Amino acid sequence: MTTKQPARLDTEAGLIYVHRPADGTHITDLPLQQAVHVAECAARLRAAQPEWERIGVRGRIKWLARYRQWIVDNTDRLISIGAEEGGRVRNEPMLETTLMVELIDYYSRSAPKLLEPKRIRPRSPLVLGKKLTEYRHPHRLVGVIGAWNFPMLLTIGDALPALFAGAAVVLKPSEVTPLAVRELIRGWQHIGAPPVLEAVYGGGDIGVAVVDEADFVQFTGSVATGVRVLERAAATITPVSLELGGKDPCLVLAGANLERAANCAVYGGFSNNGQVCMGFERVYVEDSVYDRFIDLVVAKVRALRSGTDDNSDVGALTFAPQLDTVDTQVRDAVAKGARLLTGGHRIDRDGTWYAPTVLVEVDHSMEIMREETFGPVLPIMRVADAQEAIRLANDSGFGLSASVFAGDVQRAEQVAAQLEVGAVNINDFLINMTCVEAPQGGWKRSGIGSRGSDYGLLKFTRTKVVAHSRIPIGDSEINWFPYTPGRRKAFRGAIRLFHGRGLGRFGF
Ligand code: NDP
Repeated sequence: MTTKQPARLDTEAGLIYVHRPADGTHITDLPLQQAVHVAECAARLRAAQPEWERIGVRGRIKWLARYRQWIVDNTDRLISIGAEEGGRVRNEPMLETTLMVELIDYYSRSAPKLLEPKRIRPRSPLVLGKKLTEYRHPHRLVGVIGAWNFPMLLTIGDALPALFAGAAVVLKPSEVTPLAVRELIRGWQHIGAPPVLEAVYGGGDIGVAVVDEADFVQFTGSVATGVRVLERAAATITPVSLELGGKDPCLVLAGANLERAANCAVYGGFSNNGQVCMGFERVYVEDSVYDRFIDLVVAKVRALRSGTDDNSDVGALTFAPQLDTVDTQVRDAVAKGARLLTGGHRIDRDGTWYAPTVLVEVDHSMEIMREETFGPVLPIMRVADAQEAIRLANDSGFGLSASVFAGDVQRAEQVAAQLEVGAVNINDFLINMTCVEAPQGGWKRSGIGSRGSDYGLLKFTRTKVVAHSRIPIGDSEINWFPYTPGRRKAFRGAIRLFHGRGLGRFGF
């Protein structure tokens, strides 16, 4: 049985070895790049960017429409590559290709309006007679660094709004899953699009080089790496948007449709094998419905089929070291008094397999309730009432999203208002992520900024205000030098006229 995959980076041979997590076998090698390659790539992209900006948003939309068609035409192949390099069931990469098309459609509709110059209508007497216009200019070179769990969406998906904005983009996929991204770059070249999108391949040092070269960094990954990116970017005051880890809670309250809550808890906990930043990592269930909920969940988890063929539900762990993380957290919980209802062990076959696991009698002294697990484990805790569920849900350094299951939507909305997270799905899971019109971002250590929505495009731009006088102007202004008592009095009178009330406007 091969559970460990061989080292992925071979610096001596200058290669990245890419493996199938499902059985540990070798797929292919990629040349391992160095910081100098990132610098050369950045120079090429910077040279191509001005023309990309010059053709305007309508010109860019035409290219992105062609790219959309290429993605649609090649969807099955992209899904196959994403499934193979990630050890995933095909449904998971299918979500990525679907959302990439959704993103292109949404920004094709919204980008022209978002990027058009906006007239500012000042009310202040200080700018009386002036005309001000706000323009949006792209950051010239955007660096996108992505994680391995949704490798297409977290690289190309984030590059798309930057391209609409007029930026050039350098992508750094995880060394663990570079192949689908390489294919998507080939697609961009295949349609003959301007050379404003490239990828660089390597490990963390290549990520560092991307941060050094880029004018804006879009990062998705762990909190620890996010902190490193933030520190590195601080040296050059490079703006960043960080989409980081989560420990998302699911709250099940009395009166909820328990069948739906159980189906959703199992989907939310085990889709993409638990390797979803917004996956359910802890469940809090009100006492009166706890026993019934547990019975339903355990039966459904036992019915999950591990594998990667079309009749499977749960794939392999994409990143081999995750096996140890998951196993260590499960063992820590059991050692501290948790009870395993199903799973809790590796699956005895080649590749990186862990049995879908349900833990009960857990509490917040256990790592499994506090640290991100990112694997197929659902720890479930009994709570007295909704208030205790809210208190425990908020007892976390993370704040990505949450779900609330309740019979009464108004009650669920009251609970949602008290949760310290960037999104709450009521009687559901992941709606905020699959809706490209909604902002998706974390509170607390889960990130800075958000993707999707208008903000997801505007963050790749800088504002520039251009102001001039609408009326004929003389040689000077009343508040310029020289400061004299007469000019000061006239200025004061003008301000009083605007800010005063009633007779006070005239100095009475
Ligand atoms: P990592 O933080 O380990 O890596 C993320 C990316 O950063 C990879 O491409 C990695 O390269 C690169 N990298 C590593 N070191 C540096 C560095 N010093 N500077 C710049 N880049 C660097 O995350 P994982 O890939 O393990 O992804 C899992 C994490 O991502 C989880 O915490 C998950 O919650 C989070 N995530 C968050 C999402 C969100 O939207 N909030 C969505 C999906 C995942 P390499 O892999 O080659 O070492």
